[in-house]
Order: sequence, then C-alpha cells, then structure tokens
Amino acid sequence: MGTEKYVIALDQGTTSSRAALVDRAGRMVDVVQRPFQQIFPHPGWVEHNPQEILFSQLGSCTELIARHGLTAANVAAIGIDNQRETTIVWDPATGAPVCNAIVWQCRRTAEMVERLCGAPEMSATIRAKTGLLPDAYFSASKIAWILENVPGARERAEAGELLFGTVDTWLVWVLTGGLVHATDPTNASRTMLYNIHEGRWDEELLALFGIPASMMPEVRPSSGLFGETSYPGLPAGIPIMGVAGDQQAALFGQCCFAPGEAKNTYGTGCFMLLNTGSEARASEHGLVTTIAAAPPNVTDTQYALEGSVFVAGALIQWLRDELGIIRTAAETEALAQSVPDTGGVYIVPAFTGLGAPWWKPDARGAILGLTRGTTRAHLARAALEALSYQICDLADAMAADAGGALDVLNVDGGASANDFLMQFQADLLGRELRRPANTETTSLGAAYLAGLASGFWSGTDELRGLRETDDVFRRTMDPSRADALLAGWHDAVRRVL
Ligand code: ADP
Repeated sequence: MGTEKYVIALDQGTTSSRAALVDRAGRMVDVVQRPFQQIFPHPGWVEHNPQEILFSQLGSCTELIARHGLTAANVAAIGIDNQRETTIVWDPATGAPVCNAIVWQCRRTAEMVERLCGAPEMSATIRAKTGLLPDAYFSASKIAWILENVPGARERAEAGELLFGTVDTWLVWVLTGGLVHATDPTNASRTMLYNIHEGRWDEELLALFGIPASMMPEVRPSSGLFGETSYPGLPAGIPIMGVAGDQQAALFGQCCFAPGEAKNTYGTGCFMLLNTGSEARASEHGLVTTIAAAPPNVTDTQYALEGSVFVAGALIQWLRDELGIIRTAAETEALAQSVPDTGGVYIVPAFTGLGAPWWKPDARGAILGLTRGTTRAHLARAALEALSYQICDLADAMAADAGGALDVLNVDGGASANDFLMQFQADLLGRELRRPANTETTSLGAAYLAGLASGFWSGTDELRGLRETDDVFRRTMDPSRADALLAGWHDAVRRVL
C-alpha cells in the first residue's frame, strides 16, 4: 500500500453537507459540517439551490483538507453518500442547473403521480419493476415537473442538451470537471425509473414520465472508480471510488453485508433496512424493495427491504417543544427509568398517519390509558416505548416479507444514544441490538465503499474487525411480559384505526 493515510467521506445530507476524514482503523479523525438553506416557495414545496449544495460540500471538503495539510498523495479515495431522490437538471455546456433542486420531501408532484400511476395496473407495473410504491417522493415525477414547467427545458432535453442527476451525480459531474455523468444502483433504485431486476433504466417508465433517455446517467457499481477530482481548489487526481444513497450507505457502514443483517436509524423518523442478499423480496406489508450497496467483489445485485416510521425522535421533540414536559431529549432516559412502567399509558404518534405495516395516512395520534396518577415520567416512558413498538411492527413485517430472517438489529441515529430505548427495544424484539461506537454510519459507509475499491481496506472481514467496541443490548424482560405489552400497543393502534 502507498502513503495514503485516509479516505474522505462526503456526506451530502438534507440540511447540511459534511466531509469526514477516516483513517485505516476506521476512525473518524475529523468532520467539517456546513449547513445550507432550505427553500419553501409554496406550502408543501421544498427546494435546495444546487450551487449551495455544491459549495457547502466543497467548502467542508477543502476545509478538512487544509486543516490536515492533505495532498492527493495522502488520500486513497473519496466516497460520497447523499440525500436520496432529490432531483437536479443541468446544462452540461454551461454547468448551470435549469432551476433549483426539487427535494425528496417536496409534494408538488403528488397529483401528477396520482394521474400517471394511479391505475392499479400501472401501480403494479411500477412495483414490479422498481420495487417502489408510486409516490411523489421519488425522482421520476420531479424530472417530469421540471421538463413541463421550466421554459424551454423539454426542447433542450429532447435535443440532448440537459442532464439529470440525483445529488451524487451532480457532485461527481462537478468534481470530475464535467467528465463523468454517472450514478450508482442504490441511487438509481430511488428514481422510480430503474428496473431493479434487469439493472437498467426502464423505457416504459421513462416514456410514462416523458423523460428522454439521453438525460439519464450511466449506472456504475457503488464501490468502484467513478472518476478523479479535477476542480479548482481541490487537489487534482483523487479517485472517487464510492457512491451510495444515505440509507444504503448507513446499511453498509453498519457492516450489514450479509442477508438477515439489518439497521435502524432512530432520527426524526426511523429508516430501517434489511439486507436480503441477491434476492429481491417483494413486500406484502407496505415496505419497498431497494438495491443495497455491494462490495467490489460481489457482482450480483444486492437487495434490501426498506421501511420507515414517520414520527420517532419527532415525538420526543413534541414532548419538549409543544408539551414542554422535558427540557432536553436526553432527559427522557432518566425520566423513563424513574418509573417501573407507563402505568398503562400508550402513545400512538400517528401525527401524519400510520406508515408500514398499517398504511393509514388519515389516522391521527392518541394518548390512551391516562389516569389521575399519570406523570410526565409515565408520558416520557410511553413516548420512548412508542418508538420501540413501531420498530417492532416494522421488524415483524420485514421478517415476514424476507421469509423469517432478521438476526441482528444494528442501530444508529440521534435517539440511539438513549439506553432505556435500546434496552426496551431489545426486550420487545427478542433479538440482539448492536450500537457501534461511531454512529456516523452514513459517512462510514461512503468511506468503506471507496476504501474497499481502492484497496485501502482488504475486504469486508477487515471492516467487521474494525467494529469491536459496540454496545450490545439483549432481552432481559420475560417474553410473556413483552407479549403482553405488545398486545396492549396493538390494541391502542386498533383504537386509533
Ligand atoms: P435527524 O438526522 O433525523 O435530524 P438525528 O439522528 O440527529 O435526527 O436525531 C435527532 C432526533 O433524535 C431528535 O428528534 C431528538 O428528539 C431525538 N433524540 C436525540 N437524542 C435523544 C435521546 N437521548 N433520547 C431520545 N431521543 C433523542
């Protein structure tokens, strides 16, 4: 191996861009973070300025490089992970985006998706080809909106003068000096235009949304060479060797390389992914089938089941900001531990409906089982328990869809710091929970993908070996008590439904 000491991970998130320096021991030596503006032009619309995404990302990277006096010779490779689905269309002749990026959260195309994909046969076709449930969330309708609404965009796109990319593609294109227009299968699988079984852009879906194939990036393996840096202000010639969407990067960063390995991120919401190996499992419980990042020696497409919980850490924020019964999120841990149970209180946090496996968008939340003796400690405990119950339902749905295998749950995200939550989760699931010492798993995943491809690390076994300092949570609760608590939760959910 050469003199390279580090891999750089670029973590392009929804609210900030980060650059992290990762050494051979898998330690994050340093991180630079730059927030950028969220643009809300109309109710339900969310945009980012692509140049701001770029400058926040490059700014964090150049600061990291300057702080550590790095040259191209010390950096083995760059890996990128990114907010998924967010859509950018630009003119490669000038490098100028034709409009702001349409962010994954943006609902402006909800009606279009209903119109184009609402028929049951079309919905089934999209499911079968892309693994997704048709939604405005994914890139397809966002590209169509730009072509329909930006003056001249359709003509220019049809003349082959415009390119589409998710944020990874935009960054790779700019960082390589406009040489490389490419994405990876994990990002492609979130566009609703990619056939995840055949591994190609789908002509029927491109036609449905009126998108010229010439706009679409080449799809390259997540772990492999994308191109070399060639951008003013950055050392030239650093290879970009890893690309993945943020959730798949986190799955990889958690070392979930084998079927049956899963991760859950406890953030504002939860994102849970289960590796199903080379088998694409269709869900019967409202989950989506997606492509997982594969190490360089694995040539078969790797798949995952993905599910989300809309309200997780957001419930703790609500206790803090709306009810005012706690001052900090972390305080819920001691509060929950100060009482032996919730005294029969259940919170069903269906603020924005119930997601998988229930899929009731118009359900609303409830607090059940209140008595005169209910205290804020009971409510804090009930809130943390509600997070765990939702994850339990998701895990059960995943295990059923995957044919029974969900061996270990790896956890990360802000709320995974809560030991009460983790222990209660392990008690309910009856499966082992593993919390890595470094919960910045998205950045780690991007670094791992790049470092495996460049030979910085020898293989996935070496990466597993870097993770020895985990906290492990195992069931200590009597299984019959866990069953009784879950039965109470399901009863509460039924009342909300
Ligand atoms: P995101 O990336 O979605 O913004 P983070 O992963 O940073 O979220 O996690 C922040 C969320 O986790 C917040 O909703 C917060 O309420 C919750 N949270 C943070 N720390 C704790 C804690 N110790 N116990 C419970 N919830 C927590």
